[in-house]
Amino acid sequence: MTELIYLEDPYVKEFKAKVEDIRGNEVFLSRTAFYPGGGGQPADSGTLKFSRGNARVISVNRESLGHVTEGELPEIGEEITGIIDWDRRYKIMRTHTAVHVLSGVAYQEFGVIITGNQLYEGRARLDLSFDSMTRELAEEIVEKSNEIIGKNLKVKWYFIPKDEFLNNPKLMRVNPKLYEKYDRIRVVEIEGFDIQADGGTHVKRLREIGKITLEKYQSKGKKNKRIYITLEEQK
Ligand SMILES: [Zn+2]
Repeated sequence: MTELIYLEDPYVKEFKAKVEDIRGNEVFLSRTAFYPGGGGQPADSGTLKFSRGNARVISVNRESLGHVTEGELPEIGEEITGIIDWDRRYKIMRTHTAVHVLSGVAYQEFGVIITGNQLYEGRARLDLSFDSMTRELAEEIVEKSNEIIGKNLKVKWYFIPKDEFLNNPKLMRVNPKLYEKYDRIRVVEIEGFDIQADGGTHVKRLREIGKITLEKYQSKGKKNKRIYITLEEQK
């Protein structure tokens, strides 16, 4: 089992690990800080450095946790240094946390749930279960989200037992079937604001997100309205 460093500490940019196996161009490590993708968050890219050279990590196999590489390959048993493409990942972390704020506002203020999302670097698309959407409504959600960000609330992540998860109506905003295979559920909490089941990487304080701006909105069916947001560049 690969130890997943990013679940505890998403700010790890560089780590040491042992090469446990190599299958084709997939490198398996004893531990990794590379996010393998999932929940709308793309897999990390980066570099593996080892005695004979470097490999580019272009993706991570979500099922096997193999690091999909290009270039030279390390040897099984050797120690490598993994380096995440941090600028990209940090933008994605900020964007991911922004989506939590937006979906928290949508849920608390308007009683709708998020039914899908896709995260990019500093940009995201989210699907919300609204019957109808107007420019004003989309702007209002973004504005209220920016107010929450302005409070600079703390973000925490931890595991809870599955029973506790299934019996907490605040958390059960998703299909319980999705969680059948887990014994414990990782949750991400924005203190005093929102809590969600989630396996991704987030920033520790809301202010790190910066400012959200509405890019556009679209209707994607009767109970599905899509919003595109971008984050203002940070200096
Ligand atoms: Zn999340």
